Amino acid sequence: MSDKKKRTVVVTGASRGIGRSICLALAGPDTIIYFNYFAPGDPAAEIAAAAETEKLVADAGSSATSMSVNVAVEKDVAGFFEKVLDETGRIDVLVNNAGITKDGLLVRMKEKDWDSVLDVNLKGTFTCMKIAAKTMMKQRYGRIISIASVVAATGNPGQANYSASKAGIIGLTKTVARELAPRGITVNAIAPGFIETDMTASLPEKARNAMLDQVPLGRAGQPEDVAAAVVFLASESAAYITGQVIHVSGGMYM
Ligand code: NAP
Repeated sequence: MSDKKKRTVVVTGASRGIGRSICLALAGPDTIIYFNYFAPGDPAAEIAAAAETEKLVADAGSSATSMSVNVAVEKDVAGFFEKVLDETGRIDVLVNNAGITKDGLLVRMKEKDWDSVLDVNLKGTFTCMKIAAKTMMKQRYGRIISIASVVAATGNPGQANYSASKAGIIGLTKTVARELAPRGITVNAIAPGFIETDMTASLPEKARNAMLDQVPLGRAGQPEDVAAAVVFLASESAAYITGQVIHVSGGMYM
């Protein structure tokens, strides 16, 4: 099969964690995967992590290409999508996964921590959706899946910026789902609960146990639990589902 006929998938923030699992779960011989990551602090480790994702995806049968691109900067995101379109001519699936936390109680939260979390999590999702939608509208086909969080529905002390960004993703998803439905594009969100990745590994033991106490299924989620929901929403079996939020949280929110 030529590259122009394969399914083109774009996943943001996939050098590790949930994004890497999503790439692996979507990989296969008929799929080409592009993903990005961004780490100004420790580039060598991040480049190595991205290279590892590329290798694992190749082992799973897809070609994978990664670029260091900050989803919060529109012109850089535009350059990333230009490369995808130059090489494959299409975008079938967009997964908005890139996300960060900068936790702190409301009264102590710094303006820059509010801004950076909203810029990456919410504006980044908006920018990727906007750019990908132009191509999907011409194709009259597309699947957009964004990773929100259970805290968008429940709130969480110390995460005013993060929960607002994730609640914003849900509102954005519903509006864009209505706008793009006539063009055969579905737009959905997934709200993970407590998933074992680098993001949650840094939590103090007490906070970790407090989160786990809230999980009726009694265990932390794995990145693969989230990836399985992405695979479903990206599949033809989910063709009649749009504007929805699937909670993958072991029942933390019902
Ligand atoms: P993670 O392990 O910290 O990985 C985050 C990924 O996003 C990394 O590949 C990172 O790249 C990339 N990234 C960060 N900032 C970026 C930017 N500005 N531009 C492009 N890429 C960027 O996080 P995770 O736990 O897998 O989380 C993935 C998504 O799930 C996030 O949206 C998160 O909010 C959401 N989520 C996670 C949990 C959980 O319990 N883990 C729960 C609910 C929702 P670098 O490594 O290069 O920085």
